[in-house]
Amino acid sequence: MKTEYVDLRDGKDIDEGLYKAAQIIKNGGLVAFPTETVYGLGANGLDENAVPKIYEAKGRPSDNPLILHISEFDEIKNIVKEIPNTAFVLADEFWPGPLTMVFKKSNIVPYRTTGGLESVAVRMPSNKIARELIKMAGVPVAAPSANSSGRPSPTKASHVMEDLAGKIDMVIDGGAVDIGIESTIVDMTGEVPIILRPGFITEEMLSEAIGRVEVDEAVKSLVQGLDFKPKAPGMKYRHYAPSGKMVIYKGDSKKVIELINEEIKKLIGKKTAVLATDETKDLYEADIVVSVGSRQNAENIAHNLFDVLRKFDEMGAEIIFSESFDENKLGFAIMNRLHKSAGYNIINV
Ligand code: AMP
Ligand code: MG
Repeated sequence: MKTEYVDLRDGKDIDEGLYKAAQIIKNGGLVAFPTETVYGLGANGLDENAVPKIYEAKGRPSDNPLILHISEFDEIKNIVKEIPNTAFVLADEFWPGPLTMVFKKSNIVPYRTTGGLESVAVRMPSNKIARELIKMAGVPVAAPSANSSGRPSPTKASHVMEDLAGKIDMVIDGGAVDIGIESTIVDMTGEVPIILRPGFITEEMLSEAIGRVEVDEAVKSLVQGLDFKPKAPGMKYRHYAPSGKMVIYKGDSKKVIELINEEIKKLIGKKTAVLATDETKDLYEADIVVSVGSRQNAENIAHNLFDVLRKFDEMGAEIIFSESFDENKLGFAIMNRLHKSAGYNIINV
C-alpha cells in the first residue's frame, strides 16, 4: 500500500486535505493525524471491518481496546449507555482536551473496538485538525497512538512514517504535537472515578473538579504485573520502549551521575546512552547523551520524552541509562511512561 503524506503545517489547503482524509475514514481506511497528545491512527470506530486494520498495521494485541474520538459532546450519546453527573463536570472542565473517560458502551460500538469489553473509552481532542477531521468523517474515530505497538508513541509525523509507511492510507502532518504524552484515562463506570492511566490532566486537577478520585493500584505499584492486574488492558504491555536495554536510576542526583559513569566505564564495546537533563547533560561520559529538557519544566520534559527515546534508537544506543523525576503532578505521568519504557528496570541509589 502506498501511504499518502499530506502536509498541513502551513495551514494551506486544509479543507482539501481533510476532505480526502475524511473520505478514507468513511470508506473503511486508515489515516494518521495529529492530536494535542500524540499522533493518532484513525479509523471508523463503528465499522467492524475497519477497526481490525488498526490492530494489523500497529501489530497491536486484539485485547487492547481503542479510544473513540468525538468532535462535539452530543456525539457521545450514541456510543455510551449512561453518563454520570461527574462526567458532565469533567467534560465541561477538560473537553476538548487530553482527558479520556471510560463508560458503559452502547450496542452500536463493536467489541472489536473495545477489545471485547462492555465499556468504551471516549475523548474529545482539542487539536484543530483532529476535531475537524472527526467532524467531517461524521463518525466516532477510533484512534490509538500511531506507532508500531511497543515503540515510543509518535509526537511528529516523521515518527508515524518511520513505523507505518506502507501500512496505512494517509498521514497528515500537523507539525510537532503540543503535549507529547497520551491522555489521562479515567474510568467513570464505578462509584468513584479511577485513574487508569496518568497524563497531562493530573489527579489534583480531577479532584478539584469532582472531589474524590482514585488511582488504579496497578498504576501506583511500580512492579507492575506481579500483584495487580491493571484495569486499562493496554497498561500491562511493555510499551514506549526503545530497542536498547534501558535502566532508570533513582536517588541523589550526584550519586546517580557517579554511578552511571562507573557503569559506562565497564561497558567497553557497547554503545552507551544517557537520558539526561539540561542541568546534567555535560556531566556524563556516555557515547550518546541527550537532554530531555530542564528539570524546572515538566511540561517540556513530557513534550520531548518520546522523541528522545526514538533518538536513542536512531543512534543505535545499546544500553540506556535514565535519570528519574519527581512523581508528583505531571511527573507522575512522565515516570509512568519511563517505567514502562525501561520494563520496570529500576536501580535505587
Ligand atoms: P492508546 O490509544 O494507544 O493510547 O491506547 C488506548 C488505551 O486506552 C488502551 O491501551 C487501554 O489501556 C485504554 N482503554 C481503552 N478502552 C478502554 C476501556 N474500555 N476500559 C479501560 N481502558 C481502556
Ligand atoms: Mg499507544
